[in-house]
Amino acid sequence: MKFEELPSPCYIVDEGLLDKNLKILNGVMKRTGCKILLAQKAFSMYTMYPLIGKYLSGTTASGLYEAILGYEEMGKENHIFSPAYREDEIDEIISLCDHIIFNSFSQLEKFKEKVLQAGKKVGLRINPECSTQVGHAIYDPCVPGSRFGVTPKKDFRPYLLEGVSGLHFHTLCQQNSNDLETTLKVVEEKFGPWLSQIEWINFGGGHYITNEDYNIQLLETCIERMKNKYGLEVYLEPGEAVALNAGYLATTVLDTHQNGIDTAILDTSATCHMPDVLEMPYRPPLFGSGEVGEKEFLYRLGGQTCLTGDTIGDYTFDQPLKSGDRLVFGNMAVYTMVKNTTFNGMPLPAIAIIDKDGEYHIIREFSYHDFKIRLS
Ligand SMILES: *Cc1c(COP(=O)(O)O)cnc(C)c1O
Repeated sequence: MKFEELPSPCYIVDEGLLDKNLKILNGVMKRTGCKILLAQKAFSMYTMYPLIGKYLSGTTASGLYEAILGYEEMGKENHIFSPAYREDEIDEIISLCDHIIFNSFSQLEKFKEKVLQAGKKVGLRINPECSTQVGHAIYDPCVPGSRFGVTPKKDFRPYLLEGVSGLHFHTLCQQNSNDLETTLKVVEEKFGPWLSQIEWINFGGGHYITNEDYNIQLLETCIERMKNKYGLEVYLEPGEAVALNAGYLATTVLDTHQNGIDTAILDTSATCHMPDVLEMPYRPPLFGSGEVGEKEFLYRLGGQTCLTGDTIGDYTFDQPLKSGDRLVFGNMAVYTMVKNTTFNGMPLPAIAIIDKDGEYHIIREFSYHDFKIRLS
């Protein structure tokens, strides 16, 4: 099928670009012997799991349903972390996952024996209290008062580490390996004595490995250091880096009007279909457009919802926009289809792929049923 034949709006994942990212990640695995997992919370397009599973070691989950999905659709290593597990879910989680990571000593005491009896690995999330990100407090698990991980000073109870085979930290978001290096130094300072007692360490996600300016060499040095100094198996669990820049959101202009600024109303919505645009916030790339001041015709792009703030950003174009124009946003594979909603009764975008031959295939389309089924 051709691009023009796709429904609108439509997420389109580019198989060739995904493959390119996976080869970069696989290169790190091959050269260092580390294991890389897909953090499903960023990208759960399971049609692609067979391809992802050819390169990566498995999946990691943030909750029961992701654990089931990883088990069913990839069937390789399956890890899970949750700030707190429910009594009524833990048995199923243990049956599906091989590494179960706890967030506190009380959770560890409650469930550790069950995990060990099932022959599965127990991990503990640590909080090195080392903030390396600026300006994104909602994405910084090291902020004061954070609910994530055990801190080194307050109630760290090393005698409870028996049976714990690994430590996990996750402190980064879209960051380069110099911030990983900084964090690792602090982890060594604060948790050093226990690093030689365990078997594995998980560096979490937030590594922007497939981004242009990422320093892969330094990442590999960090991995080698933990392997050689402490004899540890090293895991990474990036989400965003797996499908970074490997997808699009194609949309159509429905109308344009003027109120001090020209506005174009699209058949896609920031709040429904790309919520991180508002939450992060950020301005997604849009093919054929320019920054404000760069091209002649300026438009504020907005969605069909009633939310005043449902705007995607201000963009400039060479031609005036008109009803029926197709626009294509870039970097729309990650944190989009996993987070979308039908707020305002909006339809969900279809999901398609573009294969390596440039052919488009619709994988799924949604309807009124998908809106209704979540309500009662
Ligand atoms: C969010 C998260 C990830 C993935 O993060 P990315 O920024 O998408 O790489 C991995 N591990 C944990 C524990 C997370 O919370």
